[in-house]
Amino acid sequence: MKKSTLSACLLPAATFLLAGAAAWRTASTLAAYQVPLPMTLVCAFGVAVLFASVVVAVSEASRPVFRCRAEGCTYRVRVSHADAAEVRRWQESAAAHPDHEVPARS
Ligand SMILES: [Zn+2]
Repeated sequence: MKKSTLSACLLPAATFLLAGAAAWRTASTLAAYQVPLPMTLVCAFGVAVLFASVVVAVSEASRPVFRCRAEGCTYRVRVSHADAAEVRRWQESAAAHPDHEVPARS
């Protein structure tokens, strides 16, 4: 199994387990203070979603991003699990994409 495939499988599983553990810890802490069950569930779910979103944001930030260098253009490509040739192709694509997404000036 390739390293990228292994990490692609392990990251969601680890995120799910750690988010569940954080939710369980939050729920058990709130239960000790006799917080009503619906409120405890909402808080635990919120902690789990927050934890998972932080992990996803950190993993997204570690992938290379290629941006168009034109001023005001918002075109960008985020590449993952690509070999050197594919990364180079996306880098060239970002440098010369057919239409620029320049926001209108007011
Ligand atoms: Zn552009």
